[in-house]
Amino acid sequence: RIQLENFTKTFGTTNVIEDMSLDIASGEMLALLGPSGCGKSTTLFAICGIHKMDGGRLLFGERDVTTVPSQGRNVGVVFQNYALYPHMSIYENIAFPLKIRKQNKHDIDRKVSAIADLVHITELLDRKPAQLSGGQQQRVALARALVREPDVLLLDEPLANLDAKLRLEMRSEIRRIQQQTGITAILVTHDQVEAMSMCDRIAIMNKGSIVQLSEPRYMYDNPASAFVAGFMGNPP
Ligand code: ATP
Ligand code: MG
Repeated sequence: RIQLENFTKTFGTTNVIEDMSLDIASGEMLALLGPSGCGKSTTLFAICGIHKMDGGRLLFGERDVTTVPSQGRNVGVVFQNYALYPHMSIYENIAFPLKIRKQNKHDIDRKVSAIADLVHITELLDRKPAQLSGGQQQRVALARALVREPDVLLLDEPLANLDAKLRLEMRSEIRRIQQQTGITAILVTHDQVEAMSMCDRIAIMNKGSIVQLSEPRYMYDNPASAFVAGFMGNPP
């Protein structure tokens, strides 16, 4: 369970996030959906610890991590540009988060094999990132994020760089992998179809606040405002 309570973030004199609260159940996949600039990435940066919070609290389960630096949090992240290490093999890319945690070779081998199996890239482990397709690189990025068994998986527009066909395929693949691992996940997107098809609940954001949070179907049928209706593609 991930709880964000009364989160506030300011850049200079601008309040980018205003008193935002989120409660994500264990094993749930939540979509943060909203227009460009509404604060989706800023929220993820606060959860992974890249940005400090200017107000509010963040809990991973019972643990208050509000002031814990990013190295002290167990978070898996996948961004739009997968940022694989180009000089390392796929195996080394996935093993990297475990190596910096000084895990032993045997454990690393076992965990990399298991996760490679799960995301279907076992036959690619000896290659370099440049030798993979966009969809394959994204699978590797997912494997690298998951290998450390994070408390939460953060996905920031992970499908944005893929062509339409691959995007469809990876939607269901990411959902399958999330459900098989039972990991708690947050998917940032500005595509309502992606949010509806992949997530258990959707939080619609506008200008630094959540304007509605509910199950996809309910939100589609009962939008709380014209803004939500427009965003869900079901205007009155
Ligand atoms: P997009 O869909 O375009 O990725 P987003 O919802 O992820 O948008 P954020 O990146 O969270 O938006 O940005 C929210 C607001 O905060 C924007 O107005 C942005 O200009 C501002 N902002 C983000 N980072 C900084 C920063 N480091 N310094 C100043 N302002 C920032
Ligand atoms: Mg963003």
